[in-house]
Amino acid sequence: MTTDLYHRFDRVRAASRTLPTPGLAERRKLLSSLRDMVLDNAKPLAAAIAQDFGGRSEAETELVEVVPIMNGIRHAMSSLPRWMRDERRHVSAAFQPAKAWVRYEPLGVIGIIAPWNYPLYLALGPLIDAFAAGNRALIKPSELTPAFSDLLARIVADRFDSDRVSVITGGPDVAQAFSALPFDHLVFTGSTAVGRHVMRAAAENLTPVTLELGGKSPVIVARDYSIEKAARSISFGKFINAGQTCVAPDYVLAPTESAERLAEAVLAAAQQAYPTIQTNDQYSNIITDRHRARLQAGVDEAIAAGARVLTHPDATGPNGKMAPTIVLDPPMDGLLMTEEIFGPVLPVVRYSSLADALAQVNSRERPLALYCYTDDRKTRDTVLDGAISGGATLNGALMHVVQDDLPFGGVGASGSGAYHGRDGFRRFSHARAVHQIGFVNVFEKLGPPWGGLARTTARLLTRR
Ligand code: NAD
Repeated sequence: MTTDLYHRFDRVRAASRTLPTPGLAERRKLLSSLRDMVLDNAKPLAAAIAQDFGGRSEAETELVEVVPIMNGIRHAMSSLPRWMRDERRHVSAAFQPAKAWVRYEPLGVIGIIAPWNYPLYLALGPLIDAFAAGNRALIKPSELTPAFSDLLARIVADRFDSDRVSVITGGPDVAQAFSALPFDHLVFTGSTAVGRHVMRAAAENLTPVTLELGGKSPVIVARDYSIEKAARSISFGKFINAGQTCVAPDYVLAPTESAERLAEAVLAAAQQAYPTIQTNDQYSNIITDRHRARLQAGVDEAIAAGARVLTHPDATGPNGKMAPTIVLDPPMDGLLMTEEIFGPVLPVVRYSSLADALAQVNSRERPLALYCYTDDRKTRDTVLDGAISGGATLNGALMHVVQDDLPFGGVGASGSGAYHGRDGFRRFSHARAVHQIGFVNVFEKLGPPWGGLARTTARLLTRR
């Protein structure tokens, strides 16, 4: 398997080093082939993902994976002429006459390692930006979505030359060999723990990395905001894909006096969205038994510590889907408040003042997303100034991720580097500095040997 991996890598790398830089027309052609490939296969892709999950809404996959890919491609195709334009830069008086500009050039071969939770969007989202920037790519999807990964490998091979983009399937051993290849840039989307291995492997090759990791994304519900409105929105963001979303609200900070009402309102909103769970094909299953057991252990531990647990009436069976579960007053040193949850369990923690809520957020690693519900400008600014996160949505959940003109990425333990739109184009481009000397080069005229004119010039240029 790894021989095949090396062979495929050599093919794309050789092409990136010998074939000319693709121009605007070729990049647009690649992007439109990608769009056609996804549209022609949207239904089988959604069906394969549903099969891998043992149940996931195909409509949801189209809405949250296919639609953002289409939007990203459309945005890139129309913005490319602007993104690709050389950027004129200033030349100071000392270096005149001359011109300076920046050219955005392809890096070469981009490695893309994707997770299982949104397998299509997180494999092809980085590819949009890689193509827009004129690169070639190798993609390694997750071993936890085998039906999807095999289908992706097939349709990519049917649509694109193997020296342009190729999909490598396999388990952690293949992933490890993949991350050790001398890519020109490596994008890893996955857990913080594996992110550390990827960064170490990339360092051996001096390969720059973009790490799209996870973490505990908090929600702050301010005192001025409607509990019912906040609850509906939190329920939407949390229970889509049964909470298996990197930017899902991980825990909620609610004012002491309304925390209970908020917990009940979130559960009520979940019941309205998903009246049944076990036989509901619109509600996602948990990807593996191991993940289900991990989530259940967190809930059991909270119950033992005296937390109040509110559960959907159609709650989990032995091998069933895990129902929306709200945990009020969880133990702060327990699993639910120390590890990323990544499932349909929502702790609700009380705060007395905004400063207290922000201290809670800042006592943990910097999160990937932060959500704040408030109509008060001052409160909004206090929250944004008071806690750093990769991105933020105000009075809603998840939506900053799918804005084509906003960078998407984490900060600190939730990741580094960002992509999407212009930021992705730049991330996968080399900003090449070009300086063109005019009709005379003063510095060459001065010497060496350095004489009086050189000394006078130095004096003039270092004047206060
Ligand atoms: P994971 O880290 O277990 O796996 C991700 C990918 O890494 C898989 O393709 C896997 O094959 C590969 N991999 C495994 N071991 C490897 C190794 N030693 N070297 C290189 N690659 C290796 O993550 P997951 O369980 O698939 O996804 C869940 C995590 O991803 C959560 O933490 C979630 O927050 C995060 N996530 C982040 C984003 C984001 O955009 N920031 C998006 C989705 C998920």
